[in-house]
Order: sequence, then structure tokens, then C-alpha cells
Amino acid sequence: MEPLIGKTKDEYDAIVSSLGEAPYRARQIERSVNAGRLIDEMSELSLKLREKLKVDYTTFALDEKSVLTEEKTDTRKFLLRTQDSVLIECVGMVYDGKLSVCVSTQAGCPMRCAFCESGRNGLIRSLTSPEIISQAYIVSRNMGMPVHSVVLMGSGEPLLNYRNVKEFIEFITREDTLGIGVRRITLSTCGVTSGIKRMTDDGLGVNLSLSLHCAVPEIRKTIMPSEEKFPLSEAYKACMEYRRASGRLITLEYSVIDGVNDSMECARALAELIKGSDCEVNIIDYNPTEGYRGANKANTAGEFAKKLKRLGINYTIRRKLGSSVAAACGQLKSSYEAFSEKK
Ligand code: SAH
Repeated sequence: MEPLIGKTKDEYDAIVSSLGEAPYRARQIERSVNAGRLIDEMSELSLKLREKLKVDYTTFALDEKSVLTEEKTDTRKFLLRTQDSVLIECVGMVYDGKLSVCVSTQAGCPMRCAFCESGRNGLIRSLTSPEIISQAYIVSRNMGMPVHSVVLMGSGEPLLNYRNVKEFIEFITREDTLGIGVRRITLSTCGVTSGIKRMTDDGLGVNLSLSLHCAVPEIRKTIMPSEEKFPLSEAYKACMEYRRASGRLITLEYSVIDGVNDSMECARALAELIKGSDCEVNIIDYNPTEGYRGANKANTAGEFAKKLKRLGINYTIRRKLGSSVAAACGQLKSSYEAFSEKK
């Protein structure tokens, strides 16, 4: 089956002509697809045309496999399946009555951060742009709300799938699709410097978030092996360049792990790195995963935050949404696979 979402005008024209239909049908189909309708819901098309379309096409590139809901925060985690049967995840979160969608950009991840479930088995493959686009639409349909903002913080390293990620951003920002402004899109990277430079050159304009987690290279290396190939010092410089060129603030993500990256030495290294910048530091308790060590103490992030405060660093402590639905990267897929293996 061929997904219709994300196609160009010419491609819609070619599909309609191959089905022997009148050219104006192309625009009707395109409008319906961009509004997120399934073929059966395209009531402006004749039943016959819908049946013809359904032989080879579907609206989205993914099927819904399961949905987990955390009732008290209305966070929903989606397990979706690609047409070649790869499982991927995305999450819908409601803040202040507005829907934010967290999308995956790769199935699996090659970065192998120690605490992250997505990379535990390495990379399966990069997702196509229709697959990334479909996630945003499927979550919006399921939750019955328009997408207000998008974070590229699901599984995968977006800057190692640059072309498709760029296509995704260009598509969802269009007025005739989801119309999400670049200022409501945040791309998170573990620091692929060449990718950050491309974002600057291309004037992508989205918010940029750097997964910092530790500013001491020797310690960072132990939790983020990518430090070897993509040193934080270079990534940080590229981020500052993006800051200047785009005008967007840079967010630094810091998941605090007890006894690993929460020492005074780590706090000082962070203070030294960001001296004089206007980065926003986001502190979050790391979400315990099966493949990594035990749980944090009750107030690990809070204690680390106090150290930052003493050094005069401004920060925000982020709420953890969705831990009961295993909303940290890769967790749902892992528990689903463990369950399937047991059966
Ligand atoms: N590859 C990109 C985007 C995906 S991860 C990146 O590295 O930024 C999105 C964020 O979740 C990253 O900051 C990542 O380090 C963090 N993360 C992954 N697993 C986590 C866990 N178990 N607890 C807390 N944060 C986690």
C-alpha cells in the first residue's frame, strides 16, 4: 500500500490520471488527505473512486497497534506499525488544553545513550517523511484535538535523518496541512554538529534542544558514547551559531541520574560551559528504564538544581508526564516486545 500523505501536487495529479479520473479530483484528494481523512471518509469522492483508491493507497503510512492512556494527565502513548512491520512510538500530551505531539524520527537509534531505551538494540532504520507526518495526524485524530506543538523527541536522532526531518517540518508548517508554526516545533539532538550547521544554513527556524546531560566530557562519554564522535564542545558552539542566526533560544536538556551526573563538579562544568549565554536549562529526573540502573532517590533532580542555583544558573525543573505509560523513549515498544515474546 502506498501512503497518500506528504505527496506533491504532481504526484496527486499522476495518481488521478492513472486511475482515469478527471484532473480536479487530484485537488479534492489532496485537500482531504491534508485534513487527515481516511479514504472511506472522503465523502466528496464517489464510492467508486474511493474503492479504486483503496486498492493501492491508504491515507497514512502507519497503522495503530495500541494506545495507552494515562488518565490523570491525559497523556497517550501510541504504538504504531510501519508497512514493513517495524514498530514505532509517539506520544500525545495535553498542556493547558493544547495538544503537543512527540514524534519518532527513526525506528531504534544508533546513539546508544546508556539510559535510553530507544537505542538499546541499535538502529533499525530511519523513518520516511510520510511516516513522521503520519504520527502527528494519527495522534491528533485519536485525541480529537488539533496539533498545537510538535517535539522531535521520540526515538531516533533527527539530525541523522536530516532530509526526511526537514521534509516533515516543511510539510506540517504549511497552512493547508497542520499549519504548525516553526516556533511551535522543537528538535532535540544529542549533538550532531554537522546537522546543527545544516539547520543554520537552511534557516530551519525551529526551536533547538541539546541533550547535554553532562558537561564533563569523560563522564558524558560513559552515558553518551556519541560524545566520542560528536563532542559537546563542538555541538554547543554550533548551537550558539544557530541561536545567533535564527534568533531562537536554545534549550539544554539535563536528565539527572543519581551518582552519575549530579555532582558539584558536574554543576560547575555546566556553569562554565554556558557562562554568558541565554540558554534555558531543563532539569528532569531520569526515567528509570529496564536496560539501565536503579531508580533515582526521591529528590535527585531537586538536589542538583540547588547546586545550579548556588552557581547562579537559571533552570526549569520539568514535570514528568506519562511515566505510568512508559513514555520515556522506547519503553513502550520494549515492553510490548517482551510481552509478545512471552506469549
Ligand atoms: N536523539 C535525540 C532525541 C530523542 S531523545 C536526542 O538525543 O536529543 C529525547 C530526550 O529524552 C533526550 O534528551 C534524551 O536524552 C532523553 N531521554 C532518553 N531516555 C531517557 C530517560 N530514560 N530518562 C530521561 N530522559 C531520557
